[in-house]
Amino acid sequence: MAHVITRPCCNDASCVSVCPVNCIHPTPDEPEFFTAEMLFIDPETCIDCGACIDECPVEAILPDDQLEERDEPYLQINADYYKDHDVEGGLVPPKKGPQLPEGELHVAVIGAGPAAFYAAEELVRKQQVKVDMFDRLPTPYGLVRAGVAPDHAPTKGVEKTFASTAAKRNFTYFLNVEVGKHITHAELVDRYHAVIYAVGAATDKRLGIEGEDLAGSIPATEFVAWYNGHPDYADLDVDLTGERAVVIGNGNVALDVARILVSDPDELAKTDIADHALAALRESKVTEVVLLARRGVAQAAYTNSEFLALGDVDGVDVVIDAEELALDPATESALDDDTLDSTIATKIRLAREFAERPPTDGNRRIVFRFLVSPMEATGDSAIERLTVVRNAYADGTERVAVTPTDERFELETGLVLRAIGYRGVPVIDLPFDEVRGVVPNTEGRVQASADGDVVAGLYVTGWIKRGATGGIGMNRVCGQQTAEAVLRDHVDGVLAAPQTSRDDVADLVADRGARRIDLDGWKAIDAAEKSAGKSGGRRRVKFVSITEFETAAGMEPVQ
Ligand code: NAP
Repeated sequence: MAHVITRPCCNDASCVSVCPVNCIHPTPDEPEFFTAEMLFIDPETCIDCGACIDECPVEAILPDDQLEERDEPYLQINADYYKDHDVEGGLVPPKKGPQLPEGELHVAVIGAGPAAFYAAEELVRKQQVKVDMFDRLPTPYGLVRAGVAPDHAPTKGVEKTFASTAAKRNFTYFLNVEVGKHITHAELVDRYHAVIYAVGAATDKRLGIEGEDLAGSIPATEFVAWYNGHPDYADLDVDLTGERAVVIGNGNVALDVARILVSDPDELAKTDIADHALAALRESKVTEVVLLARRGVAQAAYTNSEFLALGDVDGVDVVIDAEELALDPATESALDDDTLDSTIATKIRLAREFAERPPTDGNRRIVFRFLVSPMEATGDSAIERLTVVRNAYADGTERVAVTPTDERFELETGLVLRAIGYRGVPVIDLPFDEVRGVVPNTEGRVQASADGDVVAGLYVTGWIKRGATGGIGMNRVCGQQTAEAVLRDHVDGVLAAPQTSRDDVADLVADRGARRIDLDGWKAIDAAEKSAGKSGGRRRVKFVSITEFETAAGMEPVQ
């Protein structure tokens, strides 16, 4: 028997460090870690000890004799990784942080999402480090709450890890407090040895086509925030009256929004989807979602596990035209020679399997189109149709590229979701790299410009540090790297002592009108949401308005 990693894998690698035989790869020390879709267990080395199962925050690891039918493909997916990766077994020595000088180290962390928490987790291990975490929302956990799809409950299991960090005596929450409004960057710099920005990538990339801003064309980022109950997007106007929706891009966000659009609302009702979204989806007329990918199947941005899981959505067909699965010449020849990367080979195999499945009468459909790009969106007051161009592979580039052909067609639709990636926005008082949409940095240390000197005491982590790539767990290594930079700089005497004490921060933000929510306040909100969900068998019923949050946290309403 061996253990097998399945779909919810979050790549945070907490399993890697507890495996006594080093059978889980890629490890954070291996170059593939940063591009791997998930981690894989070598069936030939695994000794079935179960340590990884206990450690996995998202319940992704199972003994092979307990796999449900839908997870059986993971036997092959795990084993395939070891066909083209020669790895060594053996003990991985645990890492120990540096010995800190005497005295407290005060760190402000801005943002309360996964990247913020993974950095904080590393810092609060040292008792003399005091972490104050700020977020403008009344709730923590960032994209775990407002990004992860509601039907992916196991992925939200990482919240348990974050909650245990927040429960540490040397950790303090400043939720419902906005940096830049209730406290300035300069005031933070005066009060803390180090300030870490973990503010994510708050906006969407632009297509740059005519009609992109017509009503009915919305960024998938906003649609995701809407169905996840983000307070800023509760009133988003989502037109679900047409039978067809079109999604641009085929990353995991595209798959999430496509799946939510065609899932049975009765199934979604068992999740923590926002009530306003559930009500709208119950009235939805959408029966077909078409995903447009500009490149071919071998370049598809989705992960195999998310793609495979679409085949298990009740009442939904995955539709692919086999003719659109034509490969670029390099991929074709590597596939023929059996030298193709196993993840890409799996991508092609799964798509071909879907293409062979006959459709079921009456099912809703997710249609994958490859080698096509939107050219123009048109309509009177709102979007009515999208003009699409067929692409062909282009020669002579490092990254497989495409070029438009003369062939065009139109798709009638009233809803276009642009799922072409997130982008960071400038942080007030911090340098910004406009090209990459990140704060320029070296291993988390903020630089004055892309090739400028490091600014002592200022750090970034997560998507604002490295761009909007990688799932939740990828932020663990990223957060650890930034936390290690803070600790190393402290040891090396690089960090200036604060000009003033941080003891006045709670009063300062209150004077500026912040209605701060602390750990007890968040626990009260959490308990109230969970209790509201209990009768319907739901994980929680999410509050959406700031007033609801503040009331649940025990605050008097604002007069
Ligand atoms: P993504 O993975 O970067 O995918 C972006 C997609 O948009 C790609 O298909 C890309 O195609 C396409 N695209 C970009 N610019 C385009 C343009 N101008 N015209 C047409 N297509 C364009 O981004 P994402 O889906 O937003 O996901 C962000 C990260 O979050 C990813 O690492 C993802 O895995 C992660 N995530 C994970 C999960 C999960 O694990 N369940 C869920 C959500 C998000 P090209 O490849 O041709 O550029």
